[in-house]
Amino acid sequence: MRRHIIAGNWKMNMLLEDAVALATGVAQNTKELGGVDLVVAPAMLAVAPVAKALKDAGFTHLKVATQNMHTVPTKGAYTGEVSAQMLKDAGCDFVILGHSERRQYFGETDAGVNHKAKVALAHGLTPIICIGETLAEREAERTFDRIEFQVRAALAGIDDKNLPALVLAYEPIWAIGTGKTASPEQAQEVHAFIRSILSKLAGDEIAQQVRIQYGGSVKPANISDLISQPDIDGALVGGASLKVSDFVSLAVSSNA
Ligand code: PEP
Repeated sequence: MRRHIIAGNWKMNMLLEDAVALATGVAQNTKELGGVDLVVAPAMLAVAPVAKALKDAGFTHLKVATQNMHTVPTKGAYTGEVSAQMLKDAGCDFVILGHSERRQYFGETDAGVNHKAKVALAHGLTPIICIGETLAEREAERTFDRIEFQVRAALAGIDDKNLPALVLAYEPIWAIGTGKTASPEQAQEVHAFIRSILSKLAGDEIAQQVRIQYGGSVKPANISDLISQPDIDGALVGGASLKVSDFVSLAVSSNA
């Protein structure tokens, strides 16, 4: 039985005061939910204040993520970068890796994502690894090839026994921030395919333990139909994670 996991990717939004208010508002209104894992990913500068505010208020059920990290795990001459050790020190437990916006605007590669995933696992951070096809790839019927390539590249060299400790997020790029959600059937088809690749890589038992989130215009109105699909284990949410009421509603609908 895989626990559902809902993660909010705040992207480059929220000044410090608003970030703390959003996180504590979400935490306050979800503290009774025992059947879903909840994560918020503020912008880098807000990570430490958000984590501290949650800790000071005694909220341990809402975890904190960043939206990226560097491959060097501790410190060094890497101007502008932040390491896994620094993220742990700031109170982070998760890190989103390979989001399509990072691939598109910042040159993030499959090999880089794989490297970062290994570093995250080795330093006590849960990677949420994003994969997904473009509209052109879907229209050219290349979705499955693209997804298989990305999954294999992201997981290359990661020990089978560590796979259940990471999370995959299937995010069709044409559905991110566009208001166009993949239908539950379209999403389930790809999620089942991803799980079949995991089975080939590591066997059925491990494949059944890996959580696969769906991401792309998830909102309170469509979460129930998505989360009820057998291979959809949660959601990575952008826009709808920026309002307490919407994120709480997603959490409540996913609470098993
Ligand atoms: C995302 O940024 O990962 C995302 C899915 O955004 P949205 O929910 O706004 O489509």
